[in-house]
Amino acid sequence: MHQGVNTVESGFSSLKNAESSPICDAHAHIGDEAETAARHAQRVHTALCGTDPENARAVETLCLKEPLFTAHYGLHPWKTARFSVREMEPWLAKCRVIGEIGLDSVWCDVPAADQRAAFIRQLDIAREMGKRVLLHTKGCEEEIARLVSERRVPCVVHWYSCMEHLERYLDMDSYFTIGPGVFNDPAVREVARRAPKGRILVETDGLSAVSWAFEREAAVKELRPTLEAMLKEVAAIRGEDAAETRRAAAAAYAELYGVTL
Ligand SMILES: [Zn+2]
Repeated sequence: MHQGVNTVESGFSSLKNAESSPICDAHAHIGDEAETAARHAQRVHTALCGTDPENARAVETLCLKEPLFTAHYGLHPWKTARFSVREMEPWLAKCRVIGEIGLDSVWCDVPAADQRAAFIRQLDIAREMGKRVLLHTKGCEEEIARLVSERRVPCVVHWYSCMEHLERYLDMDSYFTIGPGVFNDPAVREVARRAPKGRILVETDGLSAVSWAFEREAAVKELRPTLEAMLKEVAAIRGEDAAETRRAAAAAYAELYGVTL
């Protein structure tokens, strides 16, 4: 079911190939110490997401210690009843990409009114600051596409997994981070197939999200091999050379987060 898992060992051996492009995880959350150590040991460039003011501080601390890490901050839709955008504003000012922000009608019971007010406020802040937003769209894909396109805010569409409305995002100034669902979720595979060249990255959303997608416990040693297998899967779906897909994903990561790899 998860072809990616079978290629884990072969993917890991490419660490020895110095000519390979860097491996980048375009969106992740802080995991346990073992996960953080694995990201360092496996040389995984990681965009860590701070989802509330407290979490943002923890992300910043890790990023100051680890040159492979870069931060993005946004008040996550699940947290919009507990924290205000005002509390989050100093963090929004500190990063190049604001997120993850968005709406979720499936995986949380936070009132829609709280979510919507925080999302719209953060979109407006991003527009004022001239920044890109990273979007959590679960169950609210159509409404988010409308709100973002009305404001003409450039975006990163995170782990899109809806069979509808993808064309709305393809029509906007969007990057797409492909999630670990790429091995078995037709909607994720459709994003990998249709996203424009140069606008595709891969992400784990953190190791716990990999475990969720694979329906088994993913081990820290699988982090980099999983990202490598995902890039190969994206290349296969698109009929591209895998090395080229990997190079393009690394270039998109550098451009998006303003880092040198
Ligand atoms: Zn996330």
